Amino acid sequence: MQRPPLKHWRACGAALVVRLPDDGDTRERAICTVCQTVHYENPINVVGTVPWWGETGDQVLLCKRNIEPRWGKWTLPAGFMELGETTAQGAARETDEEAGASIEMQELFSLINVVRVGQVHLFYRARLLSTHFNPGHETIEARLFTEDTIPWDEIAFRTVRETLERYFDDRRRGHWGVHTVDIV
Ligand SMILES: [Zn+2]
Repeated sequence: MQRPPLKHWRACGAALVVRLPDDGDTRERAICTVCQTVHYENPINVVGTVPWWGETGDQVLLCKRNIEPRWGKWTLPAGFMELGETTAQGAARETDEEAGASIEMQELFSLINVVRVGQVHLFYRARLLSTHFNPGHETIEARLFTEDTIPWDEIAFRTVRETLERYFDDRRRGHWGVHTVDIV
């Protein structure tokens, strides 16, 4: 787990200690030395879409990142899931925020465990309803690419590359699956 350990428990301001809890838990946790609150850290969800265009879905929408990390690299629209929304709602929201794209949400396409950073990435296929994009401040440029024109060496994240590769594989086969990928 690469996340930095919590230093303080905000509610009481007391120090935390990392140890095994007293309840039989087999993992060490950050535990408040005063109130004994156990701070569980669990994987978080990143949700996004593969927005596609063209009668045969030969084009996908990518966003050039205007934020770190990976500034200037290309990504599918995706971001952290928020409380109070479903994974599909979060994916649609991120697509609106990052690309300003009008879409019709479709099925789940890829589920990628990124174990070393404690994240689960979920991408849904999404049919673009227009090629007019209105990217937000997190995006320098949003545009369509065919498989041949995708800047494969300039893709921001491995999860995006894995998803795009499977998208074009499935398109060739004429069958859309749900793909589970483990990046350990
Ligand atoms: Zn406490």
